[in-house]
Amino acid sequence: MGLLTWLDISLFLILFVLFAYVFVYNVITRLHKVYLLFHFFMMIWPLGQVAVHTTDNPQLQLTYITISFVGLSMIGFGWLLFSNFLINQSYMPRRRSLFYMVLPALLVAIGIASNPWNSFVEAVDGRYEERIYGPIFWLMLAVLLGYFIYSLCLLWRASHSVSTIQDRSQIANALLGIFILIFFTVLDLTLNVLLDPWLPVIPGLTSLGIVLSDIYFIISIQKHRMFDRSKISQQLVVDTIAVGILVLDNQDHVIEMNPRVVPQLGIKLGDRLDMDNIMVSFSSNNQTEEFLQAYWMNPFERLQTEICFNNADKPNHLSLNVAPIIADKRIIGRVITFQDISELRGLIDESKKQYVALQERNRALMFMQDELFQANQKLERMAITDGLTGCFNRRYLMQQLEHEVMINVRYRIPFAIFLFDIDLFKTVNDRYGHPVGDEVIRRTADIVRSVLRRTDILARYGGEEFTVYLPHTNRAQAEMLAQRIRTAVESNKIPSGVENTQISVTISMGVIAIEEPLDVQLLDAKAYLRELFVNVDAALYKAKDNGRNRVVNF
Ligand code: GH3
Ligand code: MG
Ligand code: MG
Repeated sequence: MGLLTWLDISLFLILFVLFAYVFVYNVITRLHKVYLLFHFFMMIWPLGQVAVHTTDNPQLQLTYITISFVGLSMIGFGWLLFSNFLINQSYMPRRRSLFYMVLPALLVAIGIASNPWNSFVEAVDGRYEERIYGPIFWLMLAVLLGYFIYSLCLLWRASHSVSTIQDRSQIANALLGIFILIFFTVLDLTLNVLLDPWLPVIPGLTSLGIVLSDIYFIISIQKHRMFDRSKISQQLVVDTIAVGILVLDNQDHVIEMNPRVVPQLGIKLGDRLDMDNIMVSFSSNNQTEEFLQAYWMNPFERLQTEICFNNADKPNHLSLNVAPIIADKRIIGRVITFQDISELRGLIDESKKQYVALQERNRALMFMQDELFQANQKLERMAITDGLTGCFNRRYLMQQLEHEVMINVRYRIPFAIFLFDIDLFKTVNDRYGHPVGDEVIRRTADIVRSVLRRTDILARYGGEEFTVYLPHTNRAQAEMLAQRIRTAVESNKIPSGVENTQISVTISMGVIAIEEPLDVQLLDAKAYLRELFVNVDAALYKAKDNGRNRVVNF
């Protein structure tokens, strides 16, 4: 094998290594698959070229040449497919259009493979190292050129309609790649076919063109990471996310910005971002100074503030976030995001308003509750007290007694009940009138209350009759207390309203003291109480009968 054969082998190996490299280092997408098909066609060429030199068998030589040229003839199709995918990532050819695309290459390949009447290639001296090409070879070149020109047109058109700079440079790279390939193929053709009679054969030119253009493609693929799915999806996220995103370089120039950055802020790609101006024009809180101070002095810090501008007379609130882009502990730029928080701000303001209203209503409610509570308490007091004297009323006393008496009986606790009535009260009413009579009843109740212990219960039994319940009181104590009450009332002087006249009344009292209550009496508390009152009432009558102003023990 000669040096030139080695060249083709090494070019094949380079293509193979590149093939493996693209496979290993890229996420496989549909575009990759197309690229790999394209690359595969490219590899066949140098492989066939090498193989021709490895054998003396003309039949085998013809086979290798056929393989080599079939591969070459398919490159055009591969290229067309690849260009389509390059222009449109989501390109999805239908079967029919795929068939039309591959048809010219396929026909040529069939022509090459069948080599009818040696119209593709003819041996020189029965061997194929030197060969004469026939019309099918020229047809192949024409078809290849057709594919290239068509692909070029597609790419050219795309390069004028694709929006982002990145896409345009990708397509420019692709265009350059194809030019390199065409250049070397034409060079090969000129030197080795057209000028063949005058120049020695220079092999490997087309192979070199294929490798160089392929290397160029791969470099540009890696540089722009155009096959990288995550890159593509990141771009998609940046373009469609509902947040304005700005990327600044370390000189504060805007190097990337997505469509969500609102035009009102007057930011343009390539401009230097004037944060001071933005803050002066749009800041909506009183922390502008601190924010700018931190923005300029602490570039490593992540910052947040709020800005506001009017859009169609409606305030638009944006949350502005600044984050440094750090590489090797150095700031190489910043990412600034603008998030529309108008709705949130509106909700916050609305909820603040509602909160205030709610607090107001709450206060009113609490006031009402307090009033209600007081009224309730008053009602409760009124329900159990007597309006004239402030003593408990008879209903309350009876309720309490039912309960108290049960306990006293169960635990054998001594207790006493007094029933007293103002003597000859009718005459007070008759002499001084009812209002004075009322005053006498009130004062009498007051004086009795002042003599009683805390735990005793004084209740107005009716008219000018009162009852006292005395818990934990034996007969002797009851007797003593009754006398004390009687004398207190007797010595109580009540102004009559008429000048210098004072009224003093006396009371008659029945007393019943239960020293050792019996269990059996617990059977019916109400009946027991009724009996007690019959008895104490009898004692009271006895006191009246015996001449009034006295105490009678039952
Ligand atoms: P005694 O009890 O000593 O037998 O003679 P009395 O004159 O006190 O007779 P009684 O107890 O039967 O009369 C009670 C009178 O008290 C009848 C009624 O006019 C009067 N009275 C009852 N309740 C009130 C009241 O709330 N205010 C006034 N001013 N008088 C009342
Ligand atoms: Mg009386
Ligand atoms: Mg009476």
